[in-house]
Amino acid sequence: MSIRPTRSACPQRQGLIAHVLEVTERGLYCAAGSFYVDPWQPVEQAVVTHAHGDHLAWGCDRYLVTSDGEGITRLRLGEWARGVESMPYGESRNLNGVRVSFHPAGHILGSAQVRLEHSGEVWVVSGDYKLDADSTCAPFESVECHTFVTESTFGLPIYQWMDPALLQADINAWWKGNAESARTSFLFGYSLGKAQRLLSGLDSSIGPILTHGAVGRITDVYREAGIVLPPTEHAVAKRAKESGRAIVIAPPSASGSTWARKFGPSAQAFASGWMRVRGARRRRGVDRGFPLSDHVDWPQLLQAISATGAERVWVTHGFTGPVVRWLTEQGLEARAIPTRYEGERDDAAVDAVDAEDAASDEGASP
Ligand SMILES: [Zn+2]
Repeated sequence: MSIRPTRSACPQRQGLIAHVLEVTERGLYCAAGSFYVDPWQPVEQAVVTHAHGDHLAWGCDRYLVTSDGEGITRLRLGEWARGVESMPYGESRNLNGVRVSFHPAGHILGSAQVRLEHSGEVWVVSGDYKLDADSTCAPFESVECHTFVTESTFGLPIYQWMDPALLQADINAWWKGNAESARTSFLFGYSLGKAQRLLSGLDSSIGPILTHGAVGRITDVYREAGIVLPPTEHAVAKRAKESGRAIVIAPPSASGSTWARKFGPSAQAFASGWMRVRGARRRRGVDRGFPLSDHVDWPQLLQAISATGAERVWVTHGFTGPVVRWLTEQGLEARAIPTRYEGERDDAAVDAVDAEDAASDEGASP
């Protein structure tokens, strides 16, 4: 794939490459508009791509989020939710002379790319995003810009996703097999976004669908936002044992817990993009790994960057080095920018060890 030549040859724009955003110790800052995008620490005005913990900081005075993401943001912010304001996708707001709008990122419910326009310069901050179909959120929309700030969670060529519909069919087949041998299926996935996407693909004719409390709370908010999901019940060991056919959707932290052991005979699987890599399933101590990710894979990453027409790309969250190298080789101005790694992360999260192992596995792959 080739990336289009830059548009900076346009004489009107020579010398005008003002940085609409800059990297500060609190995160990406727009000085012209006096606000931060996904700040890492409390600030006066935050513009937020989505509600995962590494993008949503507690303690800000004001938050601007998408209308679709407002319920989840409020749930996660608790007492800080009083400062939340929302705006639908595609509408714009003027923040001190900077035009700000949200565009679907396809990552989780309410996730947005933030488009910023100031003095003829257009920047887009992608947050986390994916191009694959997902019935639990609005589909990714490509936005043209001069500068694109992209994630690179799975920014290595080894990461290429299979069709999510086939993966969901595999999950149902695994569940059915366990049900036929009277074992409860535990399917672990991040409680915001991944869990609801997993739920959306489950075939409720196989058995009861039970949710861990952390998953259940967020699932309720998804339903309130109009997302259609199969019926679920709060996960109680007695119910699972009586049925013998239940599936339990739970966060990865519940794997191997005392709570999980109460459910009796079980099979355990983990759903994450990291499962694409050899060894990841074994490290997680589960029987099966389903490489279902809410981030772009390598081909989708390149496709998305190309579609923006951006001449400058800032790369964050993940394999920044390989992505910056690749983009630079294509003639783009690319640089890595710092990432906030504290706190919970979704898929990307899991931990630094997985990322390191992925890099070494890449080296070992044919
Ligand atoms: Zn995320």
